[in-house]
Amino acid sequence: MPTANAQPLTITMHPQDNVAIVANDGGLPAGTVLPSGLTLTGHVPQGHKVALAPIAQGAPVRRYNVTIGYAVQDLPAGCWVSEKLLRMPDARGLDNLPISTEARQPLPPLEGYTFEGYRNADGSVGTRNILAITQTVQCVAGVTSFAVQRIKAELLPQFPHVDDVVALEHGYGCGVAIDAPEAIIPIRTLRHLSLNPNFGGEVMVVSLGCEKLQPERLLPPGTIPIADQREQTDLDVVCLQDDAHVGFMDMVQSIMRQAETHLIRLNARRRETVPASELVVGVQCGGSDAFSGVTANPAVGFCSDLLVRAGATVMFSETTEVRDGVDQLTARATTPDVAQAIIREMAWYDAYLQRGSVDRSANTTPGNKKGGLSNIVEKAMGSIVKSGSSPISGVLAPGEKLTQKGLIYAATPASDFICGTLQLAAGMNLHIFTTGRGTPYGLAACPVVKVATRSDLARRWHDLMDVNAGRIAEGEVTIEALGWEMFHLLLDVASGRQKTWAEQWKLHNALVLFNPAPVT
Ligand code: CA
Repeated sequence: MPTANAQPLTITMHPQDNVAIVANDGGLPAGTVLPSGLTLTGHVPQGHKVALAPIAQGAPVRRYNVTIGYAVQDLPAGCWVSEKLLRMPDARGLDNLPISTEARQPLPPLEGYTFEGYRNADGSVGTRNILAITQTVQCVAGVTSFAVQRIKAELLPQFPHVDDVVALEHGYGCGVAIDAPEAIIPIRTLRHLSLNPNFGGEVMVVSLGCEKLQPERLLPPGTIPIADQREQTDLDVVCLQDDAHVGFMDMVQSIMRQAETHLIRLNARRRETVPASELVVGVQCGGSDAFSGVTANPAVGFCSDLLVRAGATVMFSETTEVRDGVDQLTARATTPDVAQAIIREMAWYDAYLQRGSVDRSANTTPGNKKGGLSNIVEKAMGSIVKSGSSPISGVLAPGEKLTQKGLIYAATPASDFICGTLQLAAGMNLHIFTTGRGTPYGLAACPVVKVATRSDLARRWHDLMDVNAGRIAEGEVTIEALGWEMFHLLLDVASGRQKTWAEQWKLHNALVLFNPAPVT
């Protein structure tokens, strides 16, 4: 609860808004007089909305200068505007959207920023030097995991310049409709995952033998860029059903033997100074609350603009969390083609949700609502600000690989693990993740910088959260200053000079494929 002398603190996002959110830890009790003179008619929890003026039944409730809902009854000034008092607006249609009307001139370039990274044969740059073991099918996961434990214990200590060995485990490969049109999504996701910049182009595959997703279908000839001094060779595959394998330990030995050839090459690599434009940063949020769109996401948005100005790539995703702001996105597209690609991805996702008899409102969680987010419209407005203000210069469909720099809309579900997996497949070498409710999320393939939206969370989770954006709500730091702080932190983490908490504790969530195709 707030202490007796704590000043009541509310945050209004736009002068046209008729609600503000309460910032004080523990919320504010009935009878509190706000600095504006408004008296609260009842308790308002932290992160929840208070009516700044009387709102008549049926009138719009505005936050971010957007209608986030309509009042279901007359609301007096000073009352708690809970989710139950709002009716959600209908989704914005995909017709007659503004096309490239606000694609501003690019912001002035930022020059001279660098980090220490691993340069790859295909021109990409890794922030870590990891041996990844690709798998064609879930059947081999147990054997591969066993082998990886032995590789880590017996081989890795001999290769001090290699950071880790990671098995790319997943649930695909057999029992799936592999020729269905949408099967292209999980297949290209797996293909592009194994080519992530943090894996140094050293692709090795463990296959069962009888699976539908055969190694040559996963990685057709010519897919893997090879360093100049080496010949294009056959795909490196360990096939467990190979007649030569007699017993389990034989299979493990095969995997270890092949892993060693890759570890030798990875171990010879060294970091070199590269421009900040080689960063490929995926931004995401999870466990959002009403502060996500006030503190952490605006600071990430400012940092995203700095990265784009430095020539880097920034991906924002989570289709259901930006769907309600589609008009903002199409307006910011650099060209009509980019705007049409945004509309194409949104339309595909609308149809996908409809097939499952749900709509975008299925997104918000009980935790979101407890944290003050009434519905997906309010959540979306707070989510979009992660993308900053740069023009949107490209769009990726799920599982596609990046081919350009700048601010990219990479269409993915909002699920933290599916989004993270798809951003890794796109080529992400650094991840920023904002959270209000708190999640210990991490990825084995790439550093995850976690940003807390509230100081209370940052204090309690002091050894899980890398950045405390709650300081913005307390007036200790500006959005711009925190954006710069994050920008410098990203360069340090990318260079390996600093490790994220998830890396220190080795907290890794599973890779989760997005498979909209049938399972047989
Ligand atoms: Ca998410």
